Amino acid sequence: MRSSIDRFIVEELSSIVGEENIVFGLDRVESYLLDETPPPIRPEPCRDIVVVKPASTEEVSAILKLASDRMIPVFPRGGGTGLVGGCIPTRSGIVLCLERMNRIEIDIDNMIAEVEAGATLHDLIEAADKADLFFPPHPGDEYAQIGGLIACNAGGARAVRTGVMRNYVRGIEAVLPTGDVLKLGGKLLKNNTGYDIMQLIVGSEGTLAVITKAFIRLYPKLPFSITMVVPFDSRSKALKTVPAIMKSGITPLALEYVERIPVELSASRLGLEWPCRDGEAFLIIILAEQDEDYLYRLCEKLLDICLEFGSFEPIVAERRDEQDRILKIRSEIYTALKPGMVDILDVTVPPASIGLLMDRVEEIARSYGTYLPAYGHAGDGNIHVHIMREEGWDTRIYDDIRDRIYSVALELGGVITGEHGIGFVRKSSLLRFSNPVYIDLIRRIKQIFDPNNILNPDKLLP
Ligand SMILES: Cc1cc2nc3c(=O)[nH]c(=O)nc-3n(C[C@H](O)[C@H](O)[C@H](O)COP(=O)(O)OP(=O)(O)OC[C@H]3O[C@@H](n4cnc5c(N)ncnc54)[C@H](O)[C@@H]3O)c2cc1C
Repeated sequence: MRSSIDRFIVEELSSIVGEENIVFGLDRVESYLLDETPPPIRPEPCRDIVVVKPASTEEVSAILKLASDRMIPVFPRGGGTGLVGGCIPTRSGIVLCLERMNRIEIDIDNMIAEVEAGATLHDLIEAADKADLFFPPHPGDEYAQIGGLIACNAGGARAVRTGVMRNYVRGIEAVLPTGDVLKLGGKLLKNNTGYDIMQLIVGSEGTLAVITKAFIRLYPKLPFSITMVVPFDSRSKALKTVPAIMKSGITPLALEYVERIPVELSASRLGLEWPCRDGEAFLIIILAEQDEDYLYRLCEKLLDICLEFGSFEPIVAERRDEQDRILKIRSEIYTALKPGMVDILDVTVPPASIGLLMDRVEEIARSYGTYLPAYGHAGDGNIHVHIMREEGWDTRIYDDIRDRIYSVALELGGVITGEHGIGFVRKSSLLRFSNPVYIDLIRRIKQIFDPNNILNPDKLLP
């Protein structure tokens, strides 16, 4: 494999995308070397790269053909909001930025958005809103791009009601490492044409193909919403309420778990105040419906369930600005914790086992004399446990804590990641916590798509 980018390659790439859409030179590529992975576990980037910004699927295809012919590694990059080092260039090669491909067209009658890969989540939410439609998923950072969200099969707070990215992707246009263009699905709600390669590409973390366009399902707007913050005096009580809510027949738009230390840290960083004086652990429940009376009936029923499970008096936010403030505090917890963080985990267990998982996490924390802050998507069984820096600890202790949490998740029928994926940082854990038959199969699939291993090498595959 080639060890450095020479000026002939840069000239050839310039002839495809235009000189103004190339970033080259060690001092100019700095912002393309990072993502949001916590620094202690982030991979060391390779600086010997050229950043290329195509404007069309044809240009992406020409770039990949060139890379394939010359065996140059290609690192697809979306918004750089990933948490496992997925888009970080780890070898000399091309960083492929899709940001110029950001067109969105909405087919109102079919309720489908045709979106280029570089459009951001923010762009899609806005475009859907203008068309009087709704894109429900909300993976935390709105600067994530559609290509990145699909490549990571992102989830987020609202997956509990209508699912994760893969449930919204109805069609895909993608370019294979050879430069061949693949078009799958479309404005369809059903498609049983052979093996579902489209869903294989969803969640493949830029290792099988470069996504250039997608057809995304939209929903009618839900005009009425309420955000409740329900306080409990312990993690355990809060989380034991979750299965009762899910069984009640009410499916909230979001059912999130947070706790006092992280939310107060986040609120004070934002200059805001957390609305609950009582309680240590909280459920944030968002209800959204077409009909206002129905919404309030659901709200009353939910409040009864929470009180039955020992909650303190909940806060019910009805005004848009109040609801937005609560969500803002929730969304910024990661940023608030980041300076003291070693890792953010996203183990996922069957939803009814979330209380058991967190009891075991608490035991692990106690045995190390540490606090493992946790928050996340309680309704999906997907909680983010954070391993924080401790004076005098070395990598072995952090690794040990991570492995023990992974083992508990697997014991409970769960997985090591429900959202963030494998990327660079979870490769060895994937190997350790997966069936060898599965590992062999994914290696062979990678070989079929990318025989020269040029597309996002060093990622996902152990
Ligand atoms: C504050 C915060 C909150 C978050 N909350 C959530 C959450 O609730 N749920 C959740 O699931 N995630 C969450 N994330 C993680 C992150 O936003 C998602 O993983 C997102 O999908 C990454 O998209 P991106 O465009 O930034 O991709 P990048 O970080 O740029 O890349 C991620 C991976 O996708 C690949 N990729 C990017 N674009 C393409 C493409 N066009 N074709 C093929 N491969 C591509 C890259 O090679 C890489 O492997 C959060 C992150 C932050 C910082």
